[in-house]
Amino acid sequence: MTEPVDENDVVIQLDDVDACPACGERRVLKARFVHTWKNMQGKAMSGLREAALCPECDRGTPAADELLALFAVDEKLGINNIETFGALVAAWVESVRHQKADETLLTEEHEEWSGEL
Ligand SMILES: [Zn+2]
Repeated sequence: MTEPVDENDVVIQLDDVDACPACGERRVLKARFVHTWKNMQGKAMSGLREAALCPECDRGTPAADELLALFAVDEKLGINNIETFGALVAAWVESVRHQKADETLLTEEHEEWSGEL
């Protein structure tokens, strides 16, 4: 699997995606992308992130539901829907990216507080 090189680059894996650790369901895809954020000192940080889409645990958000619906109608993604697929994956990665960003921020804030106390 190749590595994503910048923030707009998303590497998708469709085959041999490992099972969901939470429910054991086979996840439909895995995405690797570069995540950038600013730390508490305002310094730009970046790191490689990985997200997998579980048909059970991850449904409920519009981006995930639309993507899962595409897998439901067509097990094998063909050339006919590759553009739709690309757009839905991009939207889903964007939603995941923001969730992760919030988590990172919370953790850093928490550490900051513990340090002061
Ligand atoms: Zn799951």
